[in-house]
Amino acid sequence: MNSKDISVVESLLNTPKHIVVVGHKNPDGDAIGSCLGLANFLKQKGHEVTVLMPNDFPKFLHWIPEAYQIIRYDQEIDKSVEIISKADLIFTLDFNALNRTGDLQEVLAAATAEFILIDHHQQPDDYAKVVYSDVTMCSTSQMVYHFIEALQGLEFMNPKIATQLYVGIMTDTGSFRFPATTALTHRVIANLIESGAKNSEIHQKVYDTNSPDRLKLLGVALNNLVMLPEYNTAYITLAQNDLTENNFKKGDTEGFVNYALSMTGVVFAIIFIENKKENIVKISLRSKGSFSVNEFSRSHYNGGGHTNAAGGRSLLTLTETVAEFISILPKYKEALTYDA
Ligand code: 5GP
Ligand code: MN
Repeated sequence: MNSKDISVVESLLNTPKHIVVVGHKNPDGDAIGSCLGLANFLKQKGHEVTVLMPNDFPKFLHWIPEAYQIIRYDQEIDKSVEIISKADLIFTLDFNALNRTGDLQEVLAAATAEFILIDHHQQPDDYAKVVYSDVTMCSTSQMVYHFIEALQGLEFMNPKIATQLYVGIMTDTGSFRFPATTALTHRVIANLIESGAKNSEIHQKVYDTNSPDRLKLLGVALNNLVMLPEYNTAYITLAQNDLTENNFKKGDTEGFVNYALSMTGVVFAIIFIENKKENIVKISLRSKGSFSVNEFSRSHYNGGGHTNAAGGRSLLTLTETVAEFISILPKYKEALTYDA
């Protein structure tokens, strides 16, 4: 954040405010961790703070300190609308466009509060009074740490905030292995551990949570994996039947696409997950090196994200979506074989 933005934020937070902190639809570890960590800090500064999420988040995140206080828009619409209408200030975290909040977007668009955006995704929309956007950051949770630091607030760091932010940084960096993980990330992590984040325990609580159903679904996904060596690409499909037969629960497919990316020679991996209820195919894209899945998803799947991790959706059937994908790959052949 530049010094002008810091002083704007300081003056906004000068007096006690009604504040809402909002994450994106289908919130992940970074959305939950960054929102809870920021809320905890703001509460200690004397503000009245509500953390609001558009919908549910995976079970492996439910244990995070204060996660039980999160209000879910899909469960409590009237209450959410009231809280937003009373807010003086709305922080939007870990997303770059209001449409990433699903049905909540209309309520947010109608709000009279000032907005502060904190996010590391590319090309943020222009709806906030203060935009703290840094696409070089590994996670919004690390940005919340720097935000607190910029406001001279590290004295408010405590084991809960440390745990909340640790979860966000750990999950968005694939446990500190993705390229955006820097020396500074590790310094922040060291400070969080010193402040009471129990690193080994957190890893276990997030990652050692497989159910037999999830592992069987992973088996199906790996069985459905298709390699396209001429494009250094691999894709996975999961049909609604596959999900239903294995008692799919939210979060069960998290990380599946990384198995496709882990194969030697693959620079582009993609998973197509049929969702009959919403009548869409949910798509997760991952890459290695310079191939931008953000651009690919923006061009073809009404989505976006980062250079090496993005999401999107298709309104075609699963079969049509895959056929279309295969038909557009030749256009990208050069880009996909550039680093090879
Ligand atoms: P995932 O594949 O795990 O759902 O998402 C990968 C990354 O892309 C995450 O950082 C996520 O926030 C972002 N992302 C997922 N779906 C969308 C989308 O529809 N639009 C945009 N702009 N970003 C997305
Ligand atoms: Mn994130």
